[in-house]
Amino acid sequence: MAFEGLADRLQDTIKKITGKGKVSEQDVKEMTREVRLALLEADVNFKVVKDLIKRIKERAVGQEVMESLTPGQQVIKVVKEELTELMGGEQSKIAVADRSPTVIMMVGLQGAGKTTTTGKLANHLRKKHNRSPLLVACDVYRPAAIKQLETLGQQLDMPVFSKGTDANPVDIAKEAIDKAKEDHNDYVIIDTAGRLHVDSDLMEELDQIKETVNPNEIFLVVDAMTGQDAVNVAESFNEQLDVSGVVLTKLDGDTRGGAALSIKAVTNKPIKFAGMGEKLDQLEPFHPERMASRILG
Ligand code: GDP
Repeated sequence: MAFEGLADRLQDTIKKITGKGKVSEQDVKEMTREVRLALLEADVNFKVVKDLIKRIKERAVGQEVMESLTPGQQVIKVVKEELTELMGGEQSKIAVADRSPTVIMMVGLQGAGKTTTTGKLANHLRKKHNRSPLLVACDVYRPAAIKQLETLGQQLDMPVFSKGTDANPVDIAKEAIDKAKEDHNDYVIIDTAGRLHVDSDLMEELDQIKETVNPNEIFLVVDAMTGQDAVNVAESFNEQLDVSGVVLTKLDGDTRGGAALSIKAVTNKPIKFAGMGEKLDQLEPFHPERMASRILG
């Protein structure tokens, strides 16, 4: 499970400080040093760590005394609040279009989990929000990707719009929206092509789809296991497409968690969902506060 190393280290540090009746500047210094090392070890972006530690120090030294907490507990509360804020503060919601259908475009590198997440998201929308999505196969370069989405559609008993590998992805997306209107599907989830690396042809195509369908959400799917690379990928996609949110996949793996802790700070875009396994029901809305609690124990 993600964050184990980080959680272990921080919990040790916390144990040392929790019981303290008095917290000196030296204690805060030692603790922030430990927090800093733990975060860097968890592969959190260097600048993100620096800013975070600065804020923790400012707040932890000379703060108001609350009667219900020991000074040690108060310092920990500050760390938890700052970690929560770092990951986006409030949990964010999925957009709903004024006029149906709501269009969601899924983007990301090949292998990040885009197609799987398309199916998971459709399942989530139906189960939790009573919606009826149409899935759209716009990855015309890989027949296997179209087949994969069609198989997911069968498993979920949901319609999939595809036109094989000869059609233009922009046209497919446009036609899919007309089809959704005809069939009263209230969400359209477009699975776009991915590449092994960020490249300008891919971005150009995604940008054209974006301009044509004017999506309500653009979800960038990134693989949490790739650490700092995930953060760099998120930065490039966001620069090119101005995405609306991030889905972090494979948080069930033994990732060090740095991506989850850096992406919001670096892109200023919220993490909306976390992928917690390969199955279609293993997608969870991302709750920054719950995640911070999990890390701090
Ligand atoms: P795409 O190329 O971006 O469309 O990626 P796929 O959807 O084909 O996923 C690539 C691999 O990652 C597949 O084997 C998925 O089962 C797996 N995968 C996707 N999301 C998760 C997740 O949250 N956890 C785990 N453990 N595996 C995942």
